[in-house]
Amino acid sequence: MRTAIVAGNWKMNGNSESINELMGALVDNLQGLDAVETLVCPPAVYLSQVKGLIGDASVALGAQNASQFESGAFTGENAPGMLVDLGCQYVILGHSERRAIFGEKDADIAAKFAAAIEAGLTPILCVGETLEERESGNTMNVVGGQLKAVLDACGVESFAKAVIAYEPVWAIGTGKTATPEQAQEVHQAVRAIVAEYNAEVAAGVRILYGGSVNAANAAELFANADVDGGLVGGASLKANDFIAICRAAAEA
Ligand code: PEP
Repeated sequence: MRTAIVAGNWKMNGNSESINELMGALVDNLQGLDAVETLVCPPAVYLSQVKGLIGDASVALGAQNASQFESGAFTGENAPGMLVDLGCQYVILGHSERRAIFGEKDADIAAKFAAAIEAGLTPILCVGETLEERESGNTMNVVGGQLKAVLDACGVESFAKAVIAYEPVWAIGTGKTATPEQAQEVHQAVRAIVAEYNAEVAAGVRILYGGSVNAANAAELFANADVDGGLVGGASLKANDFIAICRAAAEA
């Protein structure tokens, strides 16, 4: 059985005060949700603050990005080992905003994925198609291509220590969610691609759905056989919504 994960991607939002408030509510309300792993991914500058606020609560810490390099003259970057040093267990890689705004290519993402695994982080590899790609019937060409780039470069065994997030670009931050059927169709196809490399790894890898998940739609998305939780942006900044989404995953 795969344990569900709900990960909050705070993106570039929050300040010390709002983070104190949000984490206070999460720590108080996420206790005892043993059927789901909960995870928050704050901006890197707040990782230490959030780690302190988590204390010994069962909320994991993740980063939103990591360098592919270990150390050295890479101004503005954060090495995977530094993120581990701050208490991170997870790192989001290949988010569509990193791909579209910062020009990250499949090869960069594969290098970051390998470096994250090497440092002991669990990468959450994001894949997803644009609306144009979906409407032209290319969803699985795009999603499969993004996934295979990392499978081929890093080896399928590395996916025993990784998580995949299917995030249709047209659903991110738009309020437009994939239907449960659309999500399941892609998740099943993603798992089938991993199974072409290794069936055991495919059966165990968690595949999260991301794209306008909220308290009202989480349960029906998480009810799908191949949807193992969610990567949540906007709704992860609202304590009550994020808690409701985590509960929906625990009950799915
Ligand atoms: C995301 O940024 O990963 C995301 C899924 O955002 P939202 O939930 O706001 O669509």
